[in-house]
Amino acid sequence: MKNRILFLMAAFVAILNIHAQNETDTKVVLITLDGFRWQELFLGADSLLIGNKDYVHDAEMLKEAFWRETAEERREALLPFFWRQVEKMGQIHGNRNKGSKVDLTNSMWFSYPGYNEILTGTADDKNIRSNDKIPNPNTTILERYNNTPEGKGKVAAFGSWDVFPYIINEERSGVPVNAGFESVRGKLNEREKFLNQLQRQIPSPWSSVRLDAFTHHYALEYMKKEHPKLVYISYGETDDFAHDGDYQAYLKSAHNTDALIKEIWEFTQQDTFYKDQTVFLITTDHGRGTEPLDTWKSHGSQIKGADAVWMIVFGKGIKALGEVEQEKQLYTNQLAPTVLQLLGMPIAKEIKGEPLKL
Ligand SMILES: [Zn+2]
Repeated sequence: MKNRILFLMAAFVAILNIHAQNETDTKVVLITLDGFRWQELFLGADSLLIGNKDYVHDAEMLKEAFWRETAEERREALLPFFWRQVEKMGQIHGNRNKGSKVDLTNSMWFSYPGYNEILTGTADDKNIRSNDKIPNPNTTILERYNNTPEGKGKVAAFGSWDVFPYIINEERSGVPVNAGFESVRGKLNEREKFLNQLQRQIPSPWSSVRLDAFTHHYALEYMKKEHPKLVYISYGETDDFAHDGDYQAYLKSAHNTDALIKEIWEFTQQDTFYKDQTVFLITTDHGRGTEPLDTWKSHGSQIKGADAVWMIVFGKGIKALGEVEQEKQLYTNQLAPTVLQLLGMPIAKEIKGEPLKL
């Protein structure tokens, strides 16, 4: 009899444990699109740029693909996953025309400070003042999670820009970062071997940023194999095409990235580890200018409006608010503490941002 009671108690404790585990068993996919403007996210293709010969060489093709009468139609043509699917299941913040604002808290308005703020939850204008390859003195949420028993070895980052190993401080943090033109190593599947081969054979237009399809597929293959609980994917093309002054490529890249993110989402929804357990957070490291017109190519503290950004959240437990249309001010530094909260982690007191109420 005594044995039986003990057995029942043990069984009960086991059930409680499973229950507790399920409640904090959220996985997080954090994604950034480098320097993608809120203007195109919410209004679609820009009427002043889409037919402008200075920035577009095939206006006819581009208009057919992305020009429509209303902003709603234009943004849906440009970003069909965001505006047909995500809008119904999640939250899209940052349409300043409707009062929803998202801003940077760093005062640099370029990439390293932006990513530092996204990944640590605190702007650091004193130390992070350039895009130089300097190991980040601050601790990212990737590193924090990797330093817990639940998160150890369950974190990974993939970036198109070759500065990410420094932003994430790969060496100190132990977080695996595949970025720039790095191949993947270790026990590779056929697709990864082929990606390594293609990456060597398809030249990138830029010296420090690879094409996003490589970043994307390396990340996807890793998720299939290793099932990280926290994964960060940083797409880079939008910023570089904009610096090149190529509005055509900027729009096509944004359109393509929307489809890549759809592919990651659809993978998670047919994979038992991720299905119904995963939250997606998507944002950008900085905005760009609008006036004078030429400043769409650029950003930095001299460019008016380059601190205006956006964020998108959807997945497990996220209230479906759609496009947020109320007066609301959010900040980029809120993403890191939100991710920690989703993962059931404490929010360290040096983190400035408040977690989002989702
Ligand atoms: Zn840039």
